[in-house]
Amino acid sequence: MSVDIQCVVVGAGVVGLAVARALAMSGREVIVVEAGDGIGTGISSRNSEVIHAGIYYPTGSLKAQLCVEGKQRLYAYCDDRDVSYQRLGKLIVATDQSQCAALQRLLEQGQCNGVADLQWLSENEAQALEPALSCVAALWSPSTGIVDSHGLMLALQSDAESFGASLAFKSPLLSARSTGQGFELHVGGVEPMVLSCQELINCAGLAGPEVASRIEGLSSRLVPAARLCKGSYFSLNGRAPFRHLVYPAPESAGLGVHMTLDLGGQARFGPDVEWVDAIDYRVDPARAERFYQAIRHYWPDLPDNTLQPAYSGIRPKISGPDEPAADFHISGPTEHGVPGLVNLFGIESPGLTSCLALAERVVESLAG
Ligand SMILES: Cc1cc2nc3c(=O)[nH]c(=O)nc-3n(C[C@H](O)[C@H](O)[C@H](O)COP(=O)(O)OP(=O)(O)OC[C@H]3O[C@@H](n4cnc5c(N)ncnc54)[C@H](O)[C@@H]3O)c2cc1C
Repeated sequence: MSVDIQCVVVGAGVVGLAVARALAMSGREVIVVEAGDGIGTGISSRNSEVIHAGIYYPTGSLKAQLCVEGKQRLYAYCDDRDVSYQRLGKLIVATDQSQCAALQRLLEQGQCNGVADLQWLSENEAQALEPALSCVAALWSPSTGIVDSHGLMLALQSDAESFGASLAFKSPLLSARSTGQGFELHVGGVEPMVLSCQELINCAGLAGPEVASRIEGLSSRLVPAARLCKGSYFSLNGRAPFRHLVYPAPESAGLGVHMTLDLGGQARFGPDVEWVDAIDYRVDPARAERFYQAIRHYWPDLPDNTLQPAYSGIRPKISGPDEPAADFHISGPTEHGVPGLVNLFGIESPGLTSCLALAERVVESLAG
C-alpha cells in the first residue's frame, strides 16, 4: 500500500500526541505511526506524573523555558479538557545544614527561570506543613502538581483526531529517505506501508536517535548517542506520610528519591538512578535497601518492610553519567538542513510538563 500525506509523526507518547494535535490544529493533514499497540506505551506511562514548576534547569535552557511555559499551558489545558490533576505543592528539603547552600541556589535558579512563587521555609514552618518531615529547611513550590498522564494523552489524541489526524498502531517506522521534496517512509507491521510525506517529526522517545539514524539524507554527525538511565519506583504499603510532594536536594542525574502521590493519594518513592545498556523494566527488589536509607533522611519513621517494587521508567538521555545534563534537543531544518524534518532528542523530565510548549516549538521550527 502506498499513501501520500502531508505530515507524519513517529511515536504516540505524550509528546508525539501533543505535536500531532498542534500540527492538525494548524491545518495540516497528519498521521501518527506508533510501533506499540496503543498510545503511551513508552516513557509517558513510566514517570512520576509531576507537573514541574521549572526550578532546576539552567536559565535560558529549553527545559527551563518550556517547563515554565508548559506548566501554565498544561494546567489551563487540564481545566479546559477535564483532565484530572491536583496542584498539591512540593517541598524540596535540606536534611542537614550542608545542603542549605544548594537549596539557596535552587531558590535563585527557580526565580531566574520565572518561578516567582517559591518560598524559603524554616524547619518549623516546613514541619507545620508536614509534621512527619525531618529537615533543617525547605523550599516550598506551590505551583508543582500531579496529573493523570493517561487522561492527558487521551485528551490530546481526541483533539488531534477531531482536527483530522489519524493514528496507526503496530506501525513501526523502519526507514526513511529524504527525496528533496519530502520523505519516503517504510512502515512495518501487519500491513506494511510506503508513505510519502512533506514533513516528518521524530517523537520516538528512547528510540529517537535510532529512528533518526535510519533517515537517509540526514548526516549521522547530527544524531546523538542514546544513553539509557533507568529509574525504579517503590510504592508504600500503608498511608502516605505527607500531603504534599517531598523531594530531597537534587542528585547528579535525577531529582533524588522523592515521594509523590498518585491522584488516589497512594504514595510512591523514586526514581533512583541506574545507567543501563538495554531496556528492562523489571524492578530489582534488592534496590529497596537504598530506598529505605534515602527516604529516612527526610522521613525517619518509615517502617521496615513497607516498600514494594512498583515500576520503572528509562530516561532518554543524550549525555552520559559524567557529563552535564543535556538540554532538550529540537533538531530542525535550520540545524541539519533537511527541509520538513524535526528530530526530538533527550526529551526526559520535564517532558510531560512541557509537552504542549514543546509541540508549539516543533511547529515553529518547521517554519524555519
Ligand atoms: C523515570 C522518569 C520520571 C519522569 N518524571 C517526569 C515527571 O514527573 N514530570 C515530567 O514532566 N516529566 C517526567 N518524565 C519525562 C517524561 O515522562 C517524558 O519526557 C515524556 O513522557 C516523553 O514522551 P515521548 O512522547 O517523547 O516518549 P514516549 O512516551 O516514550 O513515546 C515514544 C513513542 O515512540 C514509539 N516508537 C519508538 N520507535 C518507533 C518507531 N520506529 N516507529 C513508531 N513508533 C516508535 C514508542 O513505542 C513510544 O510509544 C520522566 C521520565 C522518566 C523516565
